[in-house]
Amino acid sequence: MLSLKSVEYSVGEFKLKADFKIPRLSKVALIGPSGAGKSTLLSLISGFLKPNSGSIIIDNEDVTTKLSNQRRVTTIFQDGNLFPHLTVKKNISLGLRPDLRLNSAQQSVLDYAIDRVGLTDLVDRKPGSLSGGQQSRVSLARALVRDCPLLLLDEPFSALGPSLKSDMIELIDQIANEKKLTVLFVTHDPEDAKKICDLSVVVGNGCVSSPTLTTELFENPPKILSDYL
Ligand code: ADP
Ligand code: MG
Repeated sequence: MLSLKSVEYSVGEFKLKADFKIPRLSKVALIGPSGAGKSTLLSLISGFLKPNSGSIIIDNEDVTTKLSNQRRVTTIFQDGNLFPHLTVKKNISLGLRPDLRLNSAQQSVLDYAIDRVGLTDLVDRKPGSLSGGQQSRVSLARALVRDCPLLLLDEPFSALGPSLKSDMIELIDQIANEKKLTVLFVTHDPEDAKKICDLSVVVGNGCVSSPTLTTELFENPPKILSDYL
């Protein structure tokens, strides 16, 4: 599904090398200390950053030179990236069309996503009047309507309390199964990783490890991981 071949990226003093493959429909945790390059790695995959060398293959297509909007990838960020002046419905519609002019098929996709994340009664509210958990659902719905097979999660729920976070991870898991998504999930919390990710990748010391079984990784963590766990 996703393959990074001899990818190298550097900015200032920071260098990152990545060479790994992720199977279709897997859910993979990306774990590593702060500043290790997890967000950088996601940006290379989504096309917000360009590698200095190497190639990135998504769904058998070499996307290395493609712009982010030409890649079938969607990212949910920590802050959710919601527009405060737009309603919930408009924030979600932006995932379909930047000018918000939806045709009837897109309207159905929108209605389905709103219903699926449980926001039907809140569509006319502005993000500022929602709880953190509800805001996360808006970000998730906006990602869903884009219908991309690869979903990248950059610590999107780290501001939520444990129980809400757990609910959101459960919802992601269900939706990923229903929509046959492949998921890369950056998290600091081993419990998050264990909950839905069979595989984990460790980012540290400028390198990205090959995916390993999450349970085995935490039973016998490498030093870079045990240092911060
Ligand atoms: P993580 O998400 O794992 O916390 P990031 O991918 O955000 O880490 O950052 C990786 C490294 O890249 C950090 O050490 C950061 O200081 C460095 N970095 C990011 N942007 C720049 C920049 N514009 N100039 C120099 N260093 C940068
Ligand atoms: Mg980060």
